[in-house]
Amino acid sequence: METVFASHQQAVVPVVGTTAVFPVHRIYCVGQNYGAHVREMGGDPTKTQPVFFSKPSDAIVINDSPVSYPMATANLHFEAELVVALKHGGVRLDAEQAQACIFGYGVGVDFTRRDLQANCKAKGQPWDIAKGFDQSAPVSAIKPLADCNNVGSARIWLSVDDVLKQDANTDDMILDVPSIVAELSTYFELKAGDLIFTGTPSGVDAVSVGNCIRAGIDGLGELKVNIMEGE
Ligand code: MN
Repeated sequence: METVFASHQQAVVPVVGTTAVFPVHRIYCVGQNYGAHVREMGGDPTKTQPVFFSKPSDAIVINDSPVSYPMATANLHFEAELVVALKHGGVRLDAEQAQACIFGYGVGVDFTRRDLQANCKAKGQPWDIAKGFDQSAPVSAIKPLADCNNVGSARIWLSVDDVLKQDANTDDMILDVPSIVAELSTYFELKAGDLIFTGTPSGVDAVSVGNCIRAGIDGLGELKVNIMEGE
């Protein structure tokens, strides 16, 4: 098919144990999915529900690639997250069908322009400019499900320049992975290639140019991101 300008490249993520890559369809995210993080953001987890938002697929950054400090913020925050990678989709999936859609898992960072998010929240506006910006979704290589070891109950951590900032367990999630996939499928038709960032535990904080961020989930893998000078 002739296109009026060169097509943009398909975003892809490496897969552990093969040279074949995972082609990214959409990136969905869950907010407010760990009680301690809801509390550190000033909320009450007994009175709020997890929320869904999304990022563009080309916001993906693969492991060990630099990220430029983004425009329009003075308060860039990290959020370490378990990332679910889908090989099938559908609508109105039950928990068992949702589980069967999972290709594997990765470790991600949901970068957030926290100052813009605070403005959006105060004005009742959408979170897009706070969440869906360029290079806002670094993710590790995806590990196929058969090789993952109990990621639903695993230590999740993040350090900045080797100082530990986040240290929690994925079993503290308010919505577990099958529940997330099932509930998302009541709003969107999920498809092979979808990635879902499942929310962050407490300990989020700001990073600066020159910082080295490492995030990991036991039994799954690690992600490294260096923050470079921006435009
Ligand atoms: Mn997040």
